[in-house]
Amino acid sequence: MIVDKNARITNSLSLPSTASFVINCKSRKGVIDANNFAKKEGLPLIALGGGTNIIPNNRINGVVLILDFDTLKIENETVIAEAGNEWDSIVQFAVSNHLSGIEALSWIPGRAGAAPVQNIGAYGREISNVIEEVEAYDRENEEFVMLSNKECQFSYRNSIFKEYPNKFIIVSMTLKLSKEKPKIPTYKDIENYFSERGNDEPSLREIREAIIKVRKGKLPDPEIIPNVGSYFTNPVLENEEALSLKNNFPDLPIFPFEDKSKIPAAWLIEQAGLKGKKIGKVEIYSKNALILINPNQANFADIMEAEKFIQNKVFQKFNILLKREPVII
Ligand SMILES: Cc1cc2nc3c(=O)[nH]c(=O)nc-3n(C[C@H](O)[C@H](O)[C@H](O)COP(=O)(O)OP(=O)(O)OC[C@H]3O[C@@H](n4cnc5c(N)ncnc54)[C@H](O)[C@@H]3O)c2cc1C
Repeated sequence: MIVDKNARITNSLSLPSTASFVINCKSRKGVIDANNFAKKEGLPLIALGGGTNIIPNNRINGVVLILDFDTLKIENETVIAEAGNEWDSIVQFAVSNHLSGIEALSWIPGRAGAAPVQNIGAYGREISNVIEEVEAYDRENEEFVMLSNKECQFSYRNSIFKEYPNKFIIVSMTLKLSKEKPKIPTYKDIENYFSERGNDEPSLREIREAIIKVRKGKLPDPEIIPNVGSYFTNPVLENEEALSLKNNFPDLPIFPFEDKSKIPAAWLIEQAGLKGKKIGKVEIYSKNALILINPNQANFADIMEAEKFIQNKVFQKFNILLKREPVII
């Protein structure tokens, strides 16, 4: 266990941030030691992966734990991945072993340990579609536990891990994949990609390539333009609510979601006249209104100010309060 005092927190928004302690651990024993260390110091313990879905305060009074162990195993159609693996290397591994189920989740940054936290999703798929179980350290009971898919309480960009952030440290996960022929994700950009090429039965590798190409065209690379991907979740409304909104805004796109209606947050922000706008040091990305970018060395307070500004504008126009997707730490 390596303990760094007053260490900088790496995050894809490039916010200046330091934590009381940062611990890198290489084994499950290291997780137990870190938990004991945080308890002894009387500080919260916060597990982090790549920092691509966090908004860190300037100063974090806590112990940040980075899990660096990354075994990746395959048994028939099952993949078992430890928390420290890069998520996209797991997708790459599955595709090269001819296993389908997560190819639509290609090129999502971050590490495996964080993927179940917000039930990562893209192009109509979520990690909860393939998770069999998650192995986690239960901090209260001080033991490693296995949570079944049901026990993880997955929902849209949410799970038990996001609801109770102090309870579990995820150490590994078991994914149930499939040898069956992959399907083209039913998503306009991807369907167009294949119809333009006259390819209606693409291989797994071709689907992964298509997803990466489309994503690269739409999402800013955090290494060049700091961002956390989607800043807000898409509001899910009761069907009647969505229809009455559509009466006032006939162009409103509505997507069926379980037995409700999902509204694209990007559309609401764009219609509020904010796409491409600057709010202090923060900007709304000109190619995708759902993404806040930080090209001007903003800090935590600047991001919060931009968030409130957008929420207010959208609320004034549509009476909908946008919810933040990334986590404040
Ligand atoms: C350009 C870009 C595109 C993105 N696209 C998508 C997308 O398409 N779909 C999507 O869902 N997300 C997307 N994201 C968000 C992000 O990539 C995912 O949420 C990812 O899973 C975060 O991984 P991370 O390792 O960086 O997590 P971090 O940012 O380090 O942590 C995120 C949260 O998980 C918790 N956590 C991390 N590790 C553990 C652990 N081992 N145990 C318990 N809790 C833990 C943290 O405490 C924090 O609350 C995107 C982000 C960017 C920058």
